[in-house]
Amino acid sequence: MTDEKTPHSHAFQAEVAELLNLMVHSVYSETDVFLRELISNASDACDKLRYEAISRPELLAGDERLAIRLTPDAKAGTLAIADSGIGMTEQELIDNLGTIARSGTKAFLQGLAEAKDGPGEGSGLIGKFGVGFYSAFMVAASIEVTSRRAGADQAFVWRSEGGAGFEVAPASEAQAARVPRGTEVLIHLKDDARKFAERFELERIVRTYSDHILFPIELVDGEGDKKGEARQINAASAPWQRAKSEMKPEDYTEAYKSIATAFDEPALTLHYRAEGRQSYAVMLFVPTMRPFDLADPGRKGRVKLYVRRVFITDDAELLPPWLRFVRGVIDSEDLPLNVSREMLQNNPQVTQIRNAVTGRVLGELEVAADKDAAKYRTIWEAFGAVIKEGLYEDHERRAQLLNLCRFASSASDAPRSLRQYVADLKPNQTEIYYLVGESIERLKANPKLEAAKARGIEVLLLADPIDAFWTIMPSDYEGKPLKSLSQGDVDFSLVPLVDKEAATESSEADKGILDAVKATLGDQVSDVRASQRLTDSAACLVAATGARDRELERLLARQDRGSGAKPILELNLRHALVKALAHSIEEKKEGDVADLSALLLAQAQILDGEVPPDPAAFARRLNDLIVRGLKA
Ligand code: ADP
Ligand code: MG
Repeated sequence: MTDEKTPHSHAFQAEVAELLNLMVHSVYSETDVFLRELISNASDACDKLRYEAISRPELLAGDERLAIRLTPDAKAGTLAIADSGIGMTEQELIDNLGTIARSGTKAFLQGLAEAKDGPGEGSGLIGKFGVGFYSAFMVAASIEVTSRRAGADQAFVWRSEGGAGFEVAPASEAQAARVPRGTEVLIHLKDDARKFAERFELERIVRTYSDHILFPIELVDGEGDKKGEARQINAASAPWQRAKSEMKPEDYTEAYKSIATAFDEPALTLHYRAEGRQSYAVMLFVPTMRPFDLADPGRKGRVKLYVRRVFITDDAELLPPWLRFVRGVIDSEDLPLNVSREMLQNNPQVTQIRNAVTGRVLGELEVAADKDAAKYRTIWEAFGAVIKEGLYEDHERRAQLLNLCRFASSASDAPRSLRQYVADLKPNQTEIYYLVGESIERLKANPKLEAAKARGIEVLLLADPIDAFWTIMPSDYEGKPLKSLSQGDVDFSLVPLVDKEAATESSEADKGILDAVKATLGDQVSDVRASQRLTDSAACLVAATGARDRELERLLARQDRGSGAKPILELNLRHALVKALAHSIEEKKEGDVADLSALLLAQAQILDGEVPPDPAAFARRLNDLIVRGLKA
């Protein structure tokens, strides 16, 4: 039975079904947001058609007008949101509305799983994420989407009650006649959502959320004398074209919400017009909350490119990937309207815009960092890990970016800037010390901090995954090199000890101990030497000068990209265990020397967050030694 008119049933993709179930049973109170999502989709559809029609004007044949139309019917309890945009083919209806989960869907469900306070908190997330088309099921008992792709003969209808699946069928004649081009989303409202068939309610919501949509949003009178008449209810203006002096803070918040389809407040706003070699208007925002797509592997930005008020793409890489959290619009007066997305990649005008705007964004961040430390701290907490990718990728801006960085530190609970660090250098200290690891907590307990602590030397603690990478390249700040405490030699000897008593000199005789341990451990380590770093712990592992820092080596080894380079074992010659080892060497107790050497290596591995390669042997040795010790 494959009759043309028979509806075909489809199952929702698993994540979509999960999301829908949540929408249908939502207790979220601000259900308004569904209208904003549907209007934003309608506006996207108009944008897409306007763009495609630049090269294929025939797509607009019959009706040049791009508009969005709301038709409420209070008696029937329905609301239709229609647009004369690009429309969807049968396959697009199936894919876009049910079988291909967007990354946003995944992020939303993940956020939900992480929300600790149960389902109440979960529904709060609806407002934070905006879950697109499916949010309509908060207010809909059923939804019928009729769509005709621009230029296509046939229209199709998608229908669902929000259960496990949906149906798609060719449109009936009456349905097809209602949608000459584009899409109509017809919502049969749930009983408790009937207010969305009231005109004043719709007008209020559009004013609040969608005033800046660039296409006219028209409200149709469903009843009474004026039945069928439509009236535009949004401003349909481009806020970025307005003068800065006219804009109030709340105007920016509204513009941000409507341009970025965001729900939070902007933490930072940048609005200006560039004139000169090129002219363009810029309205950019740094969000307060992390957008869900920040972790996408594509690292794509979302800044929208307009050319003379016409939307071109949000895929033009108008900012570098390490500023991908910035949202907003750049509207060029000079680029050709028919610039293809491919062409944009190597377009020198776009490159110039990218450089200039990147500089302005960094400038704005610098101003915030100087003038409003509290605000900058929230920005840094949300986006610092992304900004630091720039240290790795953009050498020219490295100095500027280092200035913007804030780091956890062994000396302070508040994040520290390099400027603060350098201002507090100890006498004779000429380097900036840092330690890279998996978590701040772990780093704070790292024995490599001991000698620095004994001299009151501050150590920056770097625990973002990107930290292992940007630190590969040598850098300095105001002439002070950045130096890892887990790599190469460190020499603190010029910096006086806080507690003078603790000082001891290492003697020539110590060399015997180091050689003995080295002989026992063989090629498990590349060298054994006396430590400058340790005061309380017995041993630690470090990378040789010029070799990869330990944390990076570990990260790469996990991906089978390790270099296999062996670390150096450093011993604290003042430690009781090392002294016991020295004693065993003198007494020629070879078994003890072997066991103690192996234990020192294993404990250094454990302190570094590694599992000793042979945990069973480690446990056996430890037990043997204790038992021997107890008997002695
Ligand atoms: P998003 O808009 O973030 O992509 P949605 O869930 O809102 O996610 O919509 C899913 C997809 O369905 C859109 O990307 C688009 O391809 C398609 N779509 C939704 N509404 C329309 C519409 N009115 N016209 C054309 N396509 C639409
Ligand atoms: Mg959408």
